[in-house]
Amino acid sequence: MLSLTNGKIAFDFSKCQQCGTCLAVCPTHSIHALQLKNGLTDIKINQDTCIQCKKCIKSCPSTMKDNTEQYNESFPAKKYYFSNNADKQIRYSSSSGGTCKTLIIQALKQGLVDGVYTLGKSNEYPYVKGTFYTAEHCPSFQDIPNSVYHSVMLNKNVNCVPKCKRLMVVGTNCQLKALEIVLKHKCENLIKVCIFCKQQKCFDSTRFLAKIMGAEILLDKPFAFQYRGNGWPGTVRLNGKELPYARASILPFGKRLWTVPGCNICGDSFSQYHADLSLMDPWGEINPSDTQGTTLVTVHTQAGNDIIKTVKNLNLLEKSYKEVIPALGLNDINRKQKLIPYFLGENCSRKIKTAAHMEILQRKAFTILLTALPKMPILFYRIIHKFPDLRNLILR
Ligand SMILES: Cc1cc2nc3c(=O)[nH]c(=O)nc-3n(C[C@H](O)[C@H](O)[C@H](O)COP(=O)(O)OP(=O)(O)OC[C@H]3O[C@@H](n4cnc5c(N)ncnc54)[C@H](O)[C@@H]3O)c2cc1C
Ligand code: SF4
Ligand code: SF4
Ligand code: SF4
Repeated sequence: MLSLTNGKIAFDFSKCQQCGTCLAVCPTHSIHALQLKNGLTDIKINQDTCIQCKKCIKSCPSTMKDNTEQYNESFPAKKYYFSNNADKQIRYSSSSGGTCKTLIIQALKQGLVDGVYTLGKSNEYPYVKGTFYTAEHCPSFQDIPNSVYHSVMLNKNVNCVPKCKRLMVVGTNCQLKALEIVLKHKCENLIKVCIFCKQQKCFDSTRFLAKIMGAEILLDKPFAFQYRGNGWPGTVRLNGKELPYARASILPFGKRLWTVPGCNICGDSFSQYHADLSLMDPWGEINPSDTQGTTLVTVHTQAGNDIIKTVKNLNLLEKSYKEVIPALGLNDINRKQKLIPYFLGENCSRKIKTAAHMEILQRKAFTILLTALPKMPILFYRIIHKFPDLRNLILR
């Protein structure tokens, strides 16, 4: 998070959502990135060249509080679809149902937008970067990555987006909030596709996954990864080793380990106040015989509904709110929202403080334990996962 403190632009790492926007918007190039050992980025500000224009503060998503009041109220009235690419192979190799890649490629091919800003694959860590695509420079399904579960700083490259009439952007809530500010003067019509996100991981999480697969990866040595794909919920691949995603995700995601610090203050996984559409996994809702992959689409706006219905090559099955409730994870989101005041340093009740302390302690203890131990059988990690979640006991 960035703020003007004691007459200087100050950076608070504990609230940084690692979106990369500040690095792009500074007109005097006074903001610099310093890569840390865990793959996250520390931000340094050159106070000598800073002209205090506050562009960085105004576009920093962690300064824009998410609206969490009566968060669940609007969900019954939204539209929901199970969606997947009509081509089995594309669906199989994508994160969930390949809906996001299809939206990007088809919106460009059908002339529904003039450009799309999203992640494209690259050769250096984090092996993806913000990329601008047009109909002439249209990506293939292989050019766009599946879900990347290490920090990506999507918005670092946003200056490559030229002025255009209709633009689509794809990102998580924090990335979209910042893109909305940065791009509002560059395009007339902005379609925002949200990648549902409760937390973004760092390199240490990937290193842990590598460890339980018996592989070793280093930040400064190229490594090959794939977190999703190969059916649903998919396979994690690291330097040639494989692990089912459902097993791999139990500890890092279940216990919120190795999370980007600013995820603690992010309360709108759907980006429902910014996005036109949100895309997620239909956990708990999927038909067990569907191992090919399906994306659960939540529609927030008319523009969102229009575009998902207009793009070709998508199988859409409308679902009712009642049918998708278990997959929406609203209880999880609400629980996260309760702790935000604590992480923002605001006044909060003793119960919230205790639950937040518990969460921090629990994370530290698990991280130390899991980092110190050698590779253990998967059963060991499953048993650890069964330990009761202390913050749940307090917040219940
Ligand atoms: C960090 C992260 C956390 C997530 N957490 C959850 C969760 O808790 N529950 C849940 O149901 N779903 C979660 N998802 C969403 C899920 O993994 C799928 O992305 C979603 O279901 C869309 O699937 P798809 O097959 O339609 O996407 P695809 O067609 O495979 O397209 C993937 C799209 O995601 C973009 N993308 C990939 N990684 C990132 C990233 N780190 N930041 C920004 N854009 C990215 C790619 O550029 C591409 O456009 C998460 C995704 C991410 C990236
Ligand atoms: S206030 Fe303006 S000049 Fe200073 S760091 Fe932020 S964007 Fe750059
Ligand atoms: S949240 Fe984004 S804009 Fe704000 S300080 Fe972190 S990287 Fe910069
Ligand atoms: S949880 Fe929120 S802050 Fe963290 S990466 Fe996801 S959208 Fe950004």
